[in-house]
Amino acid sequence: FISVRNLKKSYGKLKVLKDISFDVEKGDVIAVIGSSGSGKSTMLRCLIDLEHIGGGSVSVDGEHLIEDGKYSPREKVKEITSKMGMVFQSFNLFPHLTVRKNLEMPYSLNNKQTGISQINAICDSMLRKVGMLEKANVLPSKLSGGQQQRVAIARAMMLNPEIMLFDEPTSALDPELTGEVLSVIKQLAKEKMTMIVVTHEMSFARDVATRVLFMDDGLILEEGTPEEIFTNPQNQRTKDFLSNFI
Ligand code: ATP
Ligand code: MG
Repeated sequence: FISVRNLKKSYGKLKVLKDISFDVEKGDVIAVIGSSGSGKSTMLRCLIDLEHIGGGSVSVDGEHLIEDGKYSPREKVKEITSKMGMVFQSFNLFPHLTVRKNLEMPYSLNNKQTGISQINAICDSMLRKVGMLEKANVLPSKLSGGQQQRVAIARAMMLNPEIMLFDEPTSALDPELTGEVLSVIKQLAKEKMTMIVVTHEMSFARDVATRVLFMDDGLILEEGTPEEIFTNPQNQRTKDFLSNFI
């Protein structure tokens, strides 16, 4: 479904992504692990066109975002990235808008012909999915971090993405709030949502991922099933990294 080939990205002289290749099939949950600065966020940001890619190819559903370092026309790039939803570490809700308006505003910008009662209904169903319907009319500042992140997930889901990208969705949260966000993501996995999740939650990766990518210094050093990566890592750097989590 997504194919990444020889993806490269530099900031000035700093080579952040050196040569990244991987595939994502429909229904995959890819956990991306690796130490700070290894390029995990940059990789996600490249996929969703928040960063300019320096070389290589990325295609989604057989359509190229970029091919051999050459971007498709803007319209095509937009069409491709509109299939992806992203949730960031910091929740990025609009502080002056209620939960409901946070979900409905981006939706109505993208679907100008849809009537308000229909938008309300879609919004209600997304908020119900993440257990936040009863907070529809409050401002984000009145919510816990875990609740804000669940709203951010619902907002991304409003646009009916074919793939969700998560960049450390729980790392800004107190430990007791992490579980409620992870269980929403687990539920999406059960519903066969295709996802790439950058995470430091190893037990989550182990439980939910169909495949795990270990990134180190701008490369994917090891890739495998959770079983392979967590029980029997082949690469010494993977072993060293995982030993920090025991
Ligand atoms: P973390 O686990 O800490 O989030 P990461 O794996 O997500 O790390 P990135 O944020 O992708 O790492 O950063 C990779 C490298 O790129 C780092 O060395 C970082 O300093 C550098 N970098 C990231 N963004 C920029 C930028 N806008 N300008 C210059 N360098 C950057
Ligand atoms: Mg990061």
